[in-house]
Amino acid sequence: MADIRTVGIVGAGQMGNGIAHVFALAGYDVLLTDINQASLDKALAIIQHNLERQVTRGKVAAQDKTATMTRIKTTLKLADIGSADLIIEAATEREAVKQAIFENLLPHLKPSTILTSNTSSISITRLASRTDRPEKFMGLHFMNPVPVMQLVELIRGIATDTETWDTLHKVVKKLGKTVASSEDFPAFIVNRILMPMINEAVYALYESVGNVKSIDDSLKLGANHPMGPLELADFIGLDTCLAIMNVLHDGMADTKYRPCPLLKKYVEAGRLGRKTQRGFYDYRGEVPVPTR
Ligand code: NAD
Repeated sequence: MADIRTVGIVGAGQMGNGIAHVFALAGYDVLLTDINQASLDKALAIIQHNLERQVTRGKVAAQDKTATMTRIKTTLKLADIGSADLIIEAATEREAVKQAIFENLLPHLKPSTILTSNTSSISITRLASRTDRPEKFMGLHFMNPVPVMQLVELIRGIATDTETWDTLHKVVKKLGKTVASSEDFPAFIVNRILMPMINEAVYALYESVGNVKSIDDSLKLGANHPMGPLELADFIGLDTCLAIMNVLHDGMADTKYRPCPLLKKYVEAGRLGRKTQRGFYDYRGEVPVPTR
């Protein structure tokens, strides 16, 4: 089984920074890259802040926080991460973006490097087929927020070999998280079930069955969900939700996965949820205010 010590992460957004956090905390050396220096700076600040919160809550020792931060390095050059034992792609949920990243990485990889994508929905088999090592390619799907959520979906592409699976299973255990094994079909398990529910909540809003507050209250108080579906959509990012619905719609060729036109409209307006401070709620004030 491959020995994983160094991890390269592509994309320093909300998932990339969380993934860097948990790997560094578990003792791995992490190199984080993005096309945007501001994203890298913001990621380090968020990791520092989240670690401080864990120290305050007694979940992490103060000296481990410092050691964790020193294990995380950043770079704007994709080629710099080529020598890592494991690469985790966590860039924007667009197939063309992900394919270009893997194509640009190939000349810089060592033969043993394992490639993974944190994609929420895109075919692992198809992403793998564009690389020189489909047998060493897997879906490694973390949940948001990564330092808090227990689950990691492991998705085997058609060509993935058993050694790669075993190696990643061991890595997830070392992170202290739990594996759910999924076959490579659109949106895997979590989002195959979660996203149609969120999309249906947006349809209920679109058809004025209820307003934002009544829809979220209904699922929180009536179905015991910790967050309402619209609140959760804002948390995930409405662009990501729409991208996943599009993959389900295209991949399953079934109209039951049709993305709601209102979801498309929010994305067209650039109101992507918490990350842009506006989505189904407006986050610019002290408390989130429903927009409908
Ligand atoms: P995000 O918008 O917060 O961050 C994406 C980052 O990728 C940005 O910093 C952007 O600058 C960077 N990026 C874009 N193109 C790049 C490139 N060519 N090279 C390097 N960096 C590039 O998005 P996110 O929510 O962190 O999602 C990232 C991935 O994780 C997506 O595949 C998404 O489906 C998946 N995911 C998201 C969630 C969630 O709840 N948001 C949960 C699980 C998985």
